[in-house]
Order: sequence, then structure tokens, then C-alpha cells
Amino acid sequence: NSAAKAPPTPSPLRFSKFFQSNMRILVTGGAGFIGSHLVDRLMENEKNEVIVADNYFTGSKDNLKKWIGHPRFELIRHDVTEPLLVEVDQIYHLACPASPIFYKYNPVKTIKTNVIGTLNMLGLAKRVGARILLTSTSEVYGDPLIHPQTESYWGNVNPIGVRSCYDEGKRVAETLMFDYHRQHGIEIRIARIFNTYGPRMNIDDGRVVSNFIAQAIRNEPLTVQAPGTQTRSFCYVSDMVDGLIRLMEGENTGPINIGNPGEFTMIELAENVKEVSFNLSASPPGCESHLVYFLCGTLLLSPCYGELYFPRLINPEVKIISVENTPDDPRQRKPDITKAKELLGWEPKIKLRDGLPLMEEDFRQRLGVPRKN
Ligand code: NAD
Ligand code: UDP
Ligand code: UDP
Repeated sequence: NSAAKAPPTPSPLRFSKFFQSNMRILVTGGAGFIGSHLVDRLMENEKNEVIVADNYFTGSKDNLKKWIGHPRFELIRHDVTEPLLVEVDQIYHLACPASPIFYKYNPVKTIKTNVIGTLNMLGLAKRVGARILLTSTSEVYGDPLIHPQTESYWGNVNPIGVRSCYDEGKRVAETLMFDYHRQHGIEIRIARIFNTYGPRMNIDDGRVVSNFIAQAIRNEPLTVQAPGTQTRSFCYVSDMVDGLIRLMEGENTGPINIGNPGEFTMIELAENVKEVSFNLSASPPGCESHLVYFLCGTLLLSPCYGELYFPRLINPEVKIISVENTPDDPRQRKPDITKAKELLGWEPKIKLRDGLPLMEEDFRQRLGVPRKN
């Protein structure tokens, strides 16, 4: 048989196997939105010890307060652009600001975080024989010319634009992951995450779902950036965490898209938020029963939202305004999740109309604005 064989992959000496201890897991960026939900899930397994390394640029200790002091948990203030010496079996490498307003704030720092930070985590993985998962992004597809996006699409990215520190940074991070895999036999996993939302997002984070929900609660107009027909697909954070853990534990390097294929224009999203804010606010005076309450609202039949046709109640108090957009905003985005379904047995469970009220409740508590009823 003359078929060329791949070079043998060195078998890394796993830290936990050597010391017969628990699985020790590093989560970089673990004080952030997705990272802290991931930590919660990992800590549920009593065999896991979790170390978080975070510089608190966009994350906060508050997100992890329930674990501080726990014997299986450790929190390190650390910037991943500096070398890190710890002994671990797995690395979930999330450290990187994800909101455009934060990653554009110091673009040089963003690209350093993506490139030097990922290089350092790969050097660490190489030294200790750890498996490493990178949270890449749908932004690697840029302003995509194919729709929905499959992993085989190479993307349409502006290399010199204001978003490039993030999207080109992540593309280099993916390249580094594969070069360490091919050259040094490192076990890698790459998730291409599509827009994710849920409780604990920074209230003034600047991303669209958090903006709209905070605006609705504060009785401010929802700022739809023009033209408003651009689309995104929104994944609830518990589904995202489930997908990331399945990817880490499975046998496939990826890249694998993890996201919810339900696709919405920003105008549709704003209308959904109006609906949530109406359904969760007070019944109008005199409207006792749910049925009367229902009839007091503006009853509309919604367009198909990629989910279901459903009757909707719109909060007339919340206004939608059109504001200027930022440069290079992708016009459409929707994941093809065939690979995730086939290789990870994963697909999202929470629809947007079920996830938005959960996030709204969290934002109300943090903003100290109780429901009117
Ligand atoms: P986030 O901003 O809430 O969390 C990022 C965390 O990384 C924060 O805790 C921040 O303090 C930390 N961090 C940033 N730079 C760092 C550095 N140099 N050293 C150490 N820590 C640093 O963002 P998130 O939404 O939780 O995103 C997490 C990851 O998922 C990111 O890698 C992001 O690119 C990726 N992602 C997120 C989305 C999304 O919709 N949320 C979409 C695609 C990809
Ligand atoms: N590194 C790290 N922790 C480790 C091992 C390496 O942060 O436990 C960093 C190291 O500082 C280096 C990077 O990872 O900058 C890449 O390491 P590698 O060994 O691959 O390359 P080299 O040090 O030979 O440049
Ligand atoms: N957007 C909006 N209003 C806002 C914030 C964002 O209409 O207050 C739009 C933005 O133009 C983009 C989409 O929402 O088309 C998603 O933006 P976000 O910053 O949440 O994430 P992105 O997918 O661009 O990283």
C-alpha cells in the first residue's frame, strides 16, 4: 500500500493522567459573558478543577462570584499577551473582547490578544500536552458572499478595515492553531461562534441584543442601524456552552460552526424585543384575564421568523429609530450547522422568542427596574 501516511502525532502526557488527579481546565476570558457560563457548566462536574485567566477588560469578577473561594476553582488576573505557566489538561481559549465597540477601542491590543495571546496558549498546550479549543467567530466569513455560511467558505474579509483587528486576528489565530497541530501534533478544536446572547452580557456592551433590551427597559428608542435589513442569527448562551463542551470532548478538530440558524433582520429583532417588553410589562388597567390582556394589545400576525408563525403583541410605547451604521457591517449571517449536527450531535434548543424574556429578566434585575405588574 503506497498511500502516504500522515506523520505520527506525538502522544502528549496528560497532566491529570500523570498525577491521577482531576481534569484541570484553563478558561481564558472566563470572567466574560460566554466564559462565565462555561465555567458554571464545567464546575458542575466534580471531577473538574477550573482555572480562569482574565485581565477584566470586558469581564468582571462579579460573573464568577459564586465560585470564588471554591476549592476546585482559581481566578488569576492575567493578560494572555504575556506568557502563562500553569499545568492543565484542557484549555478553552476565549480571551478577546467580542463587542465591536470594545475591540475597536484599542485595535492594536485586540490583534495582539488574538495573535500573541493564542500563540502563548498554544505554547502552553505544547509544553503540558493539553488539548486547546479556540473560540473563533463567524466574523472570519466577513461580509459573506455565500449564504448560509459553511465551514468550507473562505470568507470575504477587508484586511485593512476597522473590524480587521478582530476578524483578521481570529483568522490568524485559526492559522496558528492548525500550524501547531500539523507541526507539533497539538490537539486542537476550533469553534466558529455566531452571535450569542443571554444573561450577564454587559448592559452597555454595544451589541445589538443587549442594546435593544436595555433600551426597551429604559423606555428609550431601539436604535436600528441602517438599513435594518442586515441579518444575524442569535444563539442562546446555554446552547452555545453545550456546543463548546461537545466540541472539546469530541474527536473533531473543526472548524465547526456553532450558532442558531434562525435568521432575523435587525428590524425583526427590534420588533421581537418590543413584543417581549409588552408581554412582560403590566396589564393595562381593567384587563384582568390573560385573554383580555391579549386583546388589549395590538394583535398582529408576524412574518415567518425562521421559526414559526405566531400572533404577536407589540408594545406601542417602545419606538424604533434608524441610526447610522458603522463601516464594513456584514449584510447577512446565518450558520450552516450540518457539521455540528453530524459530528457533535448538537443543535440549539432555545428559540429567540424564548431566550429574549430570560435575558430581559436578568437585565431588569441588574438595572433595578422591576416589571410594572
Ligand atoms: P466578553 O467580552 O464578555 O469576554 C471576553 C473575556 O476576555 C472578558 O472577560 C475579557 O476581560 C477577557 N479578555 C479580553 N482580552 C484579554 C486579554 N488580553 N487577556 C486576558 N483576558 C482578556 O466576550 P464573549 O461574548 O464572552 O466572547 C468570548 C469569546 O467568544 C471571544 O473569544 C469572542 O471572540 C468569541 N465570540 C463571541 C461571540 C458572541 O456573540 N458573544 C461571537 C463570536 C465569537
Ligand atoms: N508559552 C507560555 N506558557 C508555556 C509555554 C510557552 O505562555 O507554558 C509561550 C512562550 O512564552 C512563547 C509561546 O508560548 O512565547 C510559544 O511557545 P513555543 O514553545 O511554541 O515557542 P518558542 O518559545 O520556541 O518561541
Ligand atoms: N446593530 C443595531 N443597533 C445597535 C447595535 C447593533 O442595529 O444598537 C446592528 C449592527 O449594525 C449589526 C448587527 O446589529 O448589523 C449586529 O451587531 P453586533 O454589534 O451585535 O454584532 P456583530 O455581528 O456585528 O459582531
